[in-house]
Amino acid sequence: MDPYAQVNTMLQVLQLNADYTPMKVTSWERAVEMLLDGTAISVEDVADRYIRSERLVLPWPAVIALRKYRNVRSRVRFNARAVLARDQHTCQYCGWAPSFPDGRPDRGELTLDHVVPRAQARQGKVYLYWARKWVNTTSWENAITACKRCNQYKANRTPQQANMTLRALPRLPTQADILRMSLARLRRLPTGWETYLPRVVLLAPEAAAGTAEG
Ligand SMILES: [Zn+2]
Repeated sequence: MDPYAQVNTMLQVLQLNADYTPMKVTSWERAVEMLLDGTAISVEDVADRYIRSERLVLPWPAVIALRKYRNVRSRVRFNARAVLARDQHTCQYCGWAPSFPDGRPDRGELTLDHVVPRAQARQGKVYLYWARKWVNTTSWENAITACKRCNQYKANRTPQQANMTLRALPRLPTQADILRMSLARLRRLPTGWETYLPRVVLLAPEAAAGTAEG
């Protein structure tokens, strides 16, 4: 095993809710804090690895769980990269998922499309005709992944005006999306995590291929 890869994956800890549903990837420092203040308990440790300080020796955490169930609001700060992860790096018009030979998504081929275009915005807001409400032009509910070609073809039109079909409507990230975004930042899935991750998340291309940053 590549020792550097092991060190890398050890810096990340999988955080579960009190009912053991996976929440997110957290840093080992934050995990240790939560173990020490009693917010979380250890579920899986990294074999034969310890965190040592003057006052304590602690098994290195791999998976932790909260003691108290926390209601998760899907409030993730909006950014283009996260939109691509939510959409599993797939053009939501033609279904193309550009990737490198090793399976990592090729973000260079993908763009962020404003479903209702900026040209139709009023004071930074657009009307979502499918949801019958106004939202910020650049927001989760109006942003979607499109390949360059589809984006160019669509131009300053709504999908309806361009006679294009969306595979899925843009949405606020679900808990599974958040987890997927969190996992997409890892080089690969650390040992011992699979047991705690739902199949739907594991089947996402980026997690299956063990995506790299950048
Ligand atoms: Zn496309």
